Amino acid sequence: MDILAAAEAIARAQTRVGPLLDGLAASGKLPPALVFAGPEGAGKELMAVRLAAALDCEGRGPESTCGAARRCGACSKIRTLEHPDLHLIYPVPHGEIDAGLPLVLESRREDFFARGEFGNRGRSVGIDLVRLVIEALSKHPFEGKRAVVAIFEAHLATVEAQNALLKLLEEPPASAVIVLVTEYPDRLLPTIRSRCHEIRFDPLAAGAIADFLEEFYSVEKKEAKRLAALAQGNIRRGIDFLDERFLGLWKDAAAIVGLVVDGKKKELITEAEELAGYSESRRRNRGYSREDVAELLEEMIILFGLCIRNRDGRVEESEKGVLADSIGAERLAASAARDLPGDIGKISSAIESLRRNADLELTLSHLFLDLTGAWY
Ligand SMILES: [Zn+2]
Repeated sequence: MDILAAAEAIARAQTRVGPLLDGLAASGKLPPALVFAGPEGAGKELMAVRLAAALDCEGRGPESTCGAARRCGACSKIRTLEHPDLHLIYPVPHGEIDAGLPLVLESRREDFFARGEFGNRGRSVGIDLVRLVIEALSKHPFEGKRAVVAIFEAHLATVEAQNALLKLLEEPPASAVIVLVTEYPDRLLPTIRSRCHEIRFDPLAAGAIADFLEEFYSVEKKEAKRLAALAQGNIRRGIDFLDERFLGLWKDAAAIVGLVVDGKKKELITEAEELAGYSESRRRNRGYSREDVAELLEEMIILFGLCIRNRDGRVEESEKGVLADSIGAERLAASAARDLPGDIGKISSAIESLRRNADLELTLSHLFLDLTGAWY
């Protein structure tokens, strides 16, 4: 994947934020500390990398040495995430920055939307990572005009790390721009947020996601449109659907929603057993972890959310098509009579229970029966 070309596509799709950042970078008035906030899959991370290209490119404009293909020395190094003034900080498991950070960078060079390098292990941006930033910034920019530090999933910064970061933000080096990228800006210390200029990203339009999948993931046009409708403004989600595991998870979620709408209690109990991995009778275990099950429940929420929008006449034709394909047109019609917000509330509570370590099978069977109205 040509990371800068991908970033350019995102900048075009982010019709408000794209020109805003270009304007700030060109004016020389870019604040030294930014928060890129907004929903998952809005292209925030790519836009942080693109910002480095905007600031450190060796020449734009009519006499450009760089041009639309972005072939100058600086852009070429940014494209491969190897520019010495571009510092990308990803959360890693505790105590593993030495091996962990290079591992993540290597996989992102391959596919910028890759993830899951550490499986389900807990990751954080620890104080050691922030010290790495401070050390890097204590030197002048090596080659570029300004150093760019992007801290991804910044909400995973520990309190200790955030306090160290705060000290840096109190006196930011003039030669640097620090970008905190997060879906959850409210998890940052208020003192950090107050020192940062917050840029809010919007979800991406389905058309932009379809084009992106076609161009950068070689997805055939019709399929790209279908996946973009399922992606719900989240490009990462669109890419997830190219993955067998996620596709299987989505299909299972759709099947369960179907059983719920049909009120098939017995089948749902079997599903709960199988998802929890305890089904002796069927000798089948889909191998879902607790996190996978939580993800599956989140997909159920998205499906019920789409049912609500469908009932209210707020889905696009393409969305309606994939929704009907996923759960069946008749069930989609039948779902309109349900207390859909109530359904979603029940699923959210179950996800919360799982996060609190509740028993997997018990939580699922309780939830599924509750959704069919059979629990008493
Ligand atoms: Zn350039």
